[in-house]
Amino acid sequence: TEIAKTRFEHPVVTGERIRKSDIVVDLNRVRKSFGDKRVVNDISLQIRSGEVVCLIGPSGSGKTTLLRTINALQDIDGGTICFHGEDWICGDGKYQLSQTFRDDVIHLGMVFQSFNLFPHLTVLENVTLGPRYHTMGSADELRAFAMLNLDKVGMAAHAQKYPHQLSGGQKQRVAIARALAMKPLVMLFDEPTSALDPEMVSEVLQTIEGLAAEGMTMLIVTHEMRFAARISDRIIMLENGSRVAEASADDLRNGITDARIRRFMEQSQ
Ligand code: ADP
Repeated sequence: TEIAKTRFEHPVVTGERIRKSDIVVDLNRVRKSFGDKRVVNDISLQIRSGEVVCLIGPSGSGKTTLLRTINALQDIDGGTICFHGEDWICGDGKYQLSQTFRDDVIHLGMVFQSFNLFPHLTVLENVTLGPRYHTMGSADELRAFAMLNLDKVGMAAHAQKYPHQLSGGQKQRVAIARALAMKPLVMLFDEPTSALDPEMVSEVLQTIEGLAAEGMTMLIVTHEMRFAARISDRIIMLENGSRVAEASADDLRNGITDARIRRFMEQSQ
C-alpha cells in the first residue's frame, strides 16, 4: 500500500536493508535502576520487521520502564538500543541520540494507557500535529493521511470533535491514529486498554489486531492474556526486571509449555 511504501522512505531506512527478517529494534543488555532498585536487569531483545511481541509479567516487573527506554522517555544506565544498526542510546549513564534520530527519520509510535490527547485540539488536529511539526508534507497531504489513519481506526466520522466528546475507546483509537500519522517504524503500546471500561476494550484490541494483520512491527505491554496469545509472534515475560521466560511462535501455535508463562496467563484471565 501507499503507507507501507512511504514508511521507509528515508535513505537510511529504505531499500535493501528492510526485509521481513530484518531486526528493527535491538536491545542489548539494557539496565536501569531507580535508587538501589534494579528495574531493568540486563535485558536483551530483538524485534524483527513485522513481528508482534507482547511483554507480560506481574505489576512492577519493569515492563513500562523497558518500553519507555526504547523511545527515550526513560534514560538507561547501561547497554545499547539500536534501530537498524543505528546506535541510538548508549550506556554508562550517557544519553545520546544518533544523528538519524535527531533528524526525525526513525519514528516510534507510542500509545499510552491514558491516551494523552491534547484536549484543546480536535481529533483531526491531534492527528496532524506531529507530522505538521516535523513538516512531513503539505497541509493537504497531512490532512489526507490523517483521514486515512482515522478511517483505519474507525474514527473518520469524528474528525471535528474534541477529546471530551469521545468515549475512552474512541480516544484510544484516535491516539493510535495519531501515532500512525508519524509513519512509525515500530508501534509501542503501554497497556493500551487498562484505563478503559470493559465494554470498550475489544474495539481497541481489534484495532491493534488490524495493524498486526497489515504487518506493523509492534511491542505491546498488556494484561489481556487471550489477546496476547492471539496476536503475538512471541511473548516475553518479565519478573523483577529480568527476562524470565518466553513463548515462541511454535509454542503459541502448539500450546505454551513454559510453566511460568502458563501459570501467569491462567491467573490473569
Ligand atoms: P510494570 O510496568 O511491570 O508494572 P514499571 O516499569 O512500571 O513496572 O515499574 C517497575 C518498578 O520501577 C516499580 O517498582 C516502580 O515503582 C519503579 N519505578 C518506575 N518508574 C519509576 C521512577 N520514575 N522512579 C522511581 N521508581 C520507579
